Amino acid sequence: MNQSIRKAAVIGSGVMGAAIAAHLANAGIACLLLDVVPGQLTEEEKAKGLTLEHPAVRSRLAVQAIARLKKTKPSPLYDESFAERIRPGNLEDHLGQLSGVDWILEVVVENLSVKKELLARIEKNWTPGTVVSSNTSGISINEMAAGCSEEFRKHFLGTHFFNPPRYMRLLEIIPGDKTDPALVERIKEFGEKKLGKDVVIAKDTPNFIANRIGTYGLLVTLRELLDKGFTVEEADAVTGPAMGRPKSATFRTLDLVGLDTFLHVADNVHGKVTDANEKEAFAAPDVMKRMVANGWLGEKGGRGFYLKR
Ligand code: NAD
Repeated sequence: MNQSIRKAAVIGSGVMGAAIAAHLANAGIACLLLDVVPGQLTEEEKAKGLTLEHPAVRSRLAVQAIARLKKTKPSPLYDESFAERIRPGNLEDHLGQLSGVDWILEVVVENLSVKKELLARIEKNWTPGTVVSSNTSGISINEMAAGCSEEFRKHFLGTHFFNPPRYMRLLEIIPGDKTDPALVERIKEFGEKKLGKDVVIAKDTPNFIANRIGTYGLLVTLRELLDKGFTVEEADAVTGPAMGRPKSATFRTLDLVGLDTFLHVADNVHGKVTDANEKEAFAAPDVMKRMVANGWLGEKGGRGFYLKR
């Protein structure tokens, strides 16, 4: 197993992937940031006469993610040269480069089959010794890796960063049944010493620890609001700064996380629990499903419980 981590590949350049890559780059680690190849041209790309095969189009998602991070407030969020250590691209054209990194982080949508399919592709391009981890919010690490070889699974674990990864100190590490215990220790030490995290080792239970509690709290607040007729602002006024949580008001948090991601996370635990009370507690309300169906995804979509300022 490689001992040092100097190069990483982050797959998925959405809310979390881009910010995790920036946090790693900030700690001096060279990062590939990879996403899918866009299926459609933007109006601007059409006006420039570009095609879907153009390299700028193929790498657009990760390039735009870095541009967004550079503008993140409060500024400066990262050391000024962080972006120079991140190479954006698409996964398709860079699969071969996965064999040259020390740590591959899967940070794509919260969907078991998408993650399983991606792990299979990663394994085909994997060099024994490279660490592979998932940033899943609560999908089973063992289920995700079920189709992979024993050798690969020794190197695979959950590394759950919290949003925003630059500021949130918690890092949950979730070993799978086959994960090498020495790797768990190594990533724990790396997380603490190099990435500035407080590491908690969690079991591979639905939504692990923090999201099992957090999802419950958010859903209770949402139901109370609907039942008792409070406004979003009123709920945030009492669950945010007034409670000593300057950035954690309920609905601002949901907008930051992404409503689609939160729905996947709630559905994951709802589908796994068997106790009737727990089933009820983790059932996401219809209003949230309608918001997601309408494309109200929170900050990343410009509109959620709040309009993006
Ligand atoms: P997101 O929807 O913002 O971004 C997902 C990205 O993955 C998109 O850019 C999409 O194009 C890309 N993608 C999808 N399939 C892909 C594939 N096969 N290959 C490469 N890229 C692919 O999601 P997010 O909020 O960044 O969440 C990513 C992961 O992190 C999820 O597992 C989520 O549960 C977890 N997570 C999210 C938060 C949060 O607050 N949003 C916090 C902790 C953990």
